[in-house]
This record gives sequence, structure tokens and C-alpha cells, in this order.
Amino acid sequence: MIGTTLVISVAVVAVLGIFLMQQIASGLLNSERSAAVAQANDGLIFTQSDPNLQGPKGSSTSALISLVTQLQSGSGLGNTYDVVLLHRAAGSGLYAVTGNLANQYLAASIPEALKKQVAQKQVLGRSGHFATMPTTLLGSDGRPVGPALAVGVPISGDDQLYYLFPLAQQTQVLSLVQNTLIVAGAGLVVLLAVIVSLVTRWVVVPIRQAAQAASRVSAGNLDERMAARGTDDLAGLANSFNEMAASLQDKLRELQELSSVQRQFVSDVSHELRTPLTTIRIAADVLFGSSDALDPAARRSAELLQSQLERFEALLSDLLEISRHDANVATLDAESADVCDLVLRAAADAEQLAAQRGTRIEFRLPPDQCIAEVDRRRVERVLRNLLDNAVEHGEGRDVVVTVAADRDAVAVAVRDHGVGIGPGEHQFVFDRFWRADPARARTTGGTGLGLAIALEDARLHAGWLQAWGERGRGSVFRLTLPRTVGTQLVGSPLPLCPDEEIATADGVDSVAYPDGDGAEPGSRDA
Ligand code: ADP
Repeated sequence: MIGTTLVISVAVVAVLGIFLMQQIASGLLNSERSAAVAQANDGLIFTQSDPNLQGPKGSSTSALISLVTQLQSGSGLGNTYDVVLLHRAAGSGLYAVTGNLANQYLAASIPEALKKQVAQKQVLGRSGHFATMPTTLLGSDGRPVGPALAVGVPISGDDQLYYLFPLAQQTQVLSLVQNTLIVAGAGLVVLLAVIVSLVTRWVVVPIRQAAQAASRVSAGNLDERMAARGTDDLAGLANSFNEMAASLQDKLRELQELSSVQRQFVSDVSHELRTPLTTIRIAADVLFGSSDALDPAARRSAELLQSQLERFEALLSDLLEISRHDANVATLDAESADVCDLVLRAAADAEQLAAQRGTRIEFRLPPDQCIAEVDRRRVERVLRNLLDNAVEHGEGRDVVVTVAADRDAVAVAVRDHGVGIGPGEHQFVFDRFWRADPARARTTGGTGLGLAIALEDARLHAGWLQAWGERGRGSVFRLTLPRTVGTQLVGSPLPLCPDEEIATADGVDSVAYPDGDGAEPGSRDA
């Protein structure tokens, strides 16, 4: 704003200054012209009353010199003007007659255009008509001395009278005015800049404070308020901001209370269900144990009861686990472990299901150990869940487990070639109880909390759990964990999308999931 104001005000002041200078200059020139014409008119009257000039044989040179001398003497000691008389002698051209022989050079200061105008008037016989023209006064050496105003008038058929008025005084006045205007203009521009900067600060500072307060509120500091003074628009802004922050705080508090009540409810219900479930479990075990003595229908019911009880227990333990995450009481028992080892252990659990589905689990493990500080139980659970899901949704096709590590992180990617994940579903797979196909028959897990818990477990490690998938092309679930607890992840040693290849942090290899049969060094089959 200050810059723009400066530019505009400099332009306005410049235009105004130039206009004023032109007005003053033309005013000065006009008044000088009137004074000059009046003076020349006096000279003309004097000339016309001179009997020597009106003689029948024309004017004698001595008469002309005496006339010019008399006219020149009127200019006084200050020499406020110079008089030049141009006379046409018989048989020759015009020559200058001046009162002082030393002033012969003055004739050169009369502009040719003025001489032409006067000559025309002379031809037309208008002896009393004046012509004026600005000119440059020349010194005896022919160099310009300063600006002047030339006034010419024909006084007879052969004579032309010229007055040269130097404009030195007017030039001085003009340069004084010009300097004053420049100083005043510069002062005005500076003053304007100061005023604008003060006004801008007056408006901008509260807006800046509002922006800072808003960013603090968005960063979670809901107690942030703005100081509202007076009744102007800025105070209105501050009041509205404060009201907004207060209502936001209230809403958030309400939501937090509601959510904590819900979480507490889930946790309480899960705990309460444990006791009756244990009793039911014991009773079901007794029933199942004596199932041989039951008739076939009752035996089938006992088996169903047994399997559904297992799912119920799994659901209850998942609910309790997620409640612990919600209540922020989940702890990380980190210890150094070889992630490849954890992968193989998790895969051993998934083997049974894989065998049922005819799925082959292929491992692509690095030759070296991938040591990281992890909670073995949690990471194993995450991997088990990913492998179970891959086999479950893999439609009997190969599942490829790739492990890679760089200096800072270890990553495990579980790739299947099954149904895949539909467009826009990547964000939902980690939601609680979300299923792509709710009607899909389930033979394992099936609590709908597996990936939600896995995500919480990954977050507890400050790691990432991400999904890629395309309908019909299968999916990839990638778990990335920092090598040491508390380090921030900046990248993953494995690509998420199988089409993409990334350079590892060591800058040596690039890793891609095999979509064909080609085996790489270090790959192991289970
Ligand atoms: P659950 O497997 O118990 O239903 P999860 O949280 O493990 O719950 O998975 C949630 C949903 O994500 C699944 O119901 C399924 O629709 C989808 N999903 C998970 N893994 C895969 C996968 N490998 N391929 C396709 N869809 C998957």
C-alpha cells in the first residue's frame, strides 16, 4: 500500500507541478509581453513625432542614430531593454542602427521569423502593429546570454523598430518557483507515505493479530481470544472471532464428552460381557466335550455354538484392545527384533487358512536381518491380520510378502492378487466395522476391527500402515516402522503401488513386487 501510494502521489505531484510551472511561466510571459508592447508603443509614438524621420528624402543615418540613442536612453541605468532600428538604405538591404556602436551585435538576437512578420506588416502599411516573439539574447561574442522577448514594429517604409527585453528576472522567479514546488512536492510525498504507513499499520496490526489468533486456534489452542476495544469494525471482527472460538470450544467439549462417554460405554460393556462369556464358554466346552453323546442336530448346534463363541471372544478382545487405544492406555513394549522373523511367525499362523484356500505365500526377504525396536506382540498381530486378509481376499492366488529396510526404517508389504480394493475405498478399509462387501461369507477373523487395531498399533510405533488396491488387480498393504522408537518416518523402503519403483535410502537398489514368476535372490517360499 505504501509503495502504491508513493508511486501514485509522485505521479500526481509531478503532473501538478508541471501544470503549475506552465501556468506561472505563461502568466509571467504574458505580463512581460504587455509591458514590453506598452514600452515599444511609447517608442513608436516618440518616433512618429520625430520630424527628422519623416523627411521627404527619407531619414539620414545621423537622425536615425540620434533617435535610437534617445529611445535607448529611456531604458535607464539598469538597461531594462535594448533598442535596435533596422533601416533599408537605398540600393542595399537592411542594416542595423543602434544607439551605441558597441551594441551592433544585438541585431543578431532578433529572430528571422519576427523580422519576416514585421516586414509583412511593413508591406501592408500597418506601421502601428506590433509583433512579439521570445528569443535568445546573444552577447558580443555571439554566445547566448539568456532568454529575452523581442518586440518589433514597422515605423516607416524603410525602418523597423525593435525592442529586446531580457527575461533574466523572470527566469530567476521561475527557477525559484520551480525549486519551491520540488521541495514542497517531495515533502508532500513523504508526508503522504508516513500517513499511509500509519493508517495501514492501524488497520493491518489488528488483522495480523486476528490471523495469528486464528492459526493458534487451528493449532488446537481453543482458549485463544482477541482483545476487542471500542466499537469500530475491528472491534466487531475481534468480537465475532471470540464468539466463534467460544462456540467452537463448546462444541468440541460436547463432542469430546460424548465420545469419551461412548468409549467408556464400549469398554464397560466389553468388561461386563467377559464374565458371562466365560461362564457360557465353560458350559459350551462341557457340551462340546460330550457331543458324541448328542444326536446329530444337537451336535451340530454344539459345534456352531463353539465356533460362534470363538468369534465372540475374538470380537470382545478386539473391542477391549481398541478401547485401550481410545483411552490412550495402550503401551509399547519395544525391544529389538528381526522383522523377518516376525513375518515368518505370523505367516505360520496364516498357513492353515492359506492351505485351505490353496494359496501359496511367497516371501521376498533381504539376506540380512532387519532389526528394529518394535513391540513383537503388536507387530505380529498386525502382520497376522494383513496375511489373513490377503489370503481371505486373495481368491487362492499367490500372496507375496516383501521385506526391505534402509538406514531409518523397515517395511513389510503384503501383496495379494485377489479382489482388490475399489476406487475411493482406501480410506475406509481402516475404519471400524467397515467391509467392502458386508454380505461376504466369513470364515476367519471377521470382527471388522482388524485393520483399525492394526492402524492403531502402527501409530503407536510412530509408523505407517497404508493400502493400495485396484479392483481385479489385488492389493498391497504396507507397514513401515522406524528402526528406533521415537524417530520420525520420512519415507518407506518399499513402494506402495506395485507399478512404482523407488530408490532405497541407501541409494543402491530399487524394489518392486514381482507380478510374474521371476525369483530374486534372497526370496524364500513357505
Ligand atoms: P475384517 O477382515 O475382520 O472384516 P479388517 O479391518 O481386517 O476387518 O478389514 C476390513 C475390510 O477391508 C474387509 O472387510 C475387506 O473388505 C477389506 N480388506 C481388507 N484386506 C483386504 C485385501 N487384502 N483385499 C481386499 N480387501 C481387503
